[in-house]
Amino acid sequence: MSSSSNAPQLTIGVLALQGDYASHARVLEEIGVRVKMVRKAQELTGIDGLIIPGGESTTFLKLLAREGLFEPLRSFAASRPTFGTCAGCILLAKHVSGPEQESLGVLDASVERNAYGRQIDSEILTDETRLPGGPLEMVFIRAPRISQVGAEVEVLATRDGSPILVREKNVLAATFHPELSEDRRVHRYFLQMIQERRDSGNS
Ligand code: GLN
Repeated sequence: MSSSSNAPQLTIGVLALQGDYASHARVLEEIGVRVKMVRKAQELTGIDGLIIPGGESTTFLKLLAREGLFEPLRSFAASRPTFGTCAGCILLAKHVSGPEQESLGVLDASVERNAYGRQIDSEILTDETRLPGGPLEMVFIRAPRISQVGAEVEVLATRDGSPILVREKNVLAATFHPELSEDRRVHRYFLQMIQERRDSGNS
């Protein structure tokens, strides 16, 4: 467990209500980040960023409502570094279809749930992205499709012309599961986003 730079150690929260939060925690520890499991609103304090993992977005919505976590999570994700993967990406988007459902609305994107159909609902692709270092392995599991993004959204990777890794200011979202591959570039990119904010004087 060693940090890649001399920067102070970061603490990243992982929303641990449901889904594959343990895999994200393992990756973060491996790249030298302190992990805090977030299950209650007060646990959103004292973290430098938050990961919303994959899982089932409808179940997340139920649990967020039950824990009184929906509004605190929305205000965190509106201004602080937040990374959503798969169901996490669905929760972050402004518009969700297939069917329509509530979301945090902090990422200017339209997302269609389970959009790749049953035949290819789970798939591993390796392709070039805008992250340096060559092709990236990307694991898709009942993935959503990002059908539209706003002008402020930076597209970092696409699949058949649709964005699959996007960033809008403090928000990063992937329709795939970087925590299930050995390549750590996407998590490191998120750390870099946090570091940039710190360096520019935002906490
Ligand atoms: N299909 C799930 C949903 O709609 C997302 C799947 C995932 O996170 N792997 O919420």
